[in-house]
Amino acid sequence: MPHPKRRTSKSSARQRRTHKKLTAPTVISCPNCAEAVRPHHVCPSCGQYRGQEVLSTTTM
Ligand SMILES: [Zn+2]
Repeated sequence: MPHPKRRTSKSSARQRRTHKKLTAPTVISCPNCAEAVRPHHVCPSCGQYRGQEVLSTTTM
């Protein structure tokens, strides 16, 4: 099994991890119900995508 010859220094590890971070998800407001929705996704609130209802959101 290959394994590293040297331990990665704290500095190198931290420099590598500066690029590893969470980003806030992009949201737009739904044209039907104004709920925050991710672009190119069906609205989970009203079940519409591009002006058509594609998901039934009626509760039982
Ligand atoms: Zn909606």
